[in-house]
Amino acid sequence: MPHHRNSARFKSVYEQAATLPSEYLRCRFNSHRWGDDDDITYPDRKTVRYSCACDRCGAVRYRDFTRYGTRLGSGVKYPDNYVFDGTGTLSAEDNAIVRVAYFERTSNP
Ligand SMILES: [Zn+2]
Repeated sequence: MPHHRNSARFKSVYEQAATLPSEYLRCRFNSHRWGDDDDITYPDRKTVRYSCACDRCGAVRYRDFTRYGTRLGSGVKYPDNYVFDGTGTLSAEDNAIVRVAYFERTSNP
């Protein structure tokens, strides 16, 4: 069930989406554009970390492995103001609101 445009949730998500820089909004719509170049670091003696950056928004994805290739963990570090304030994890309905903001930014009816 989509959020009604006048609901508090719609306003909270929409207002933040509508003020995102265009490259951030595009990453939210299209997902990130990870570069090919991995940065390889060793956070501790047992861990190998492969990181790469999104060449559009600057988010950094990292994946940690043991030296034997077993996965240890992964995550994404987002640039400042990429993550919405006070909304928690966005639901499918929330992401529809973000797409509405993207449509309004990118289309010329
Ligand atoms: Zn991105």
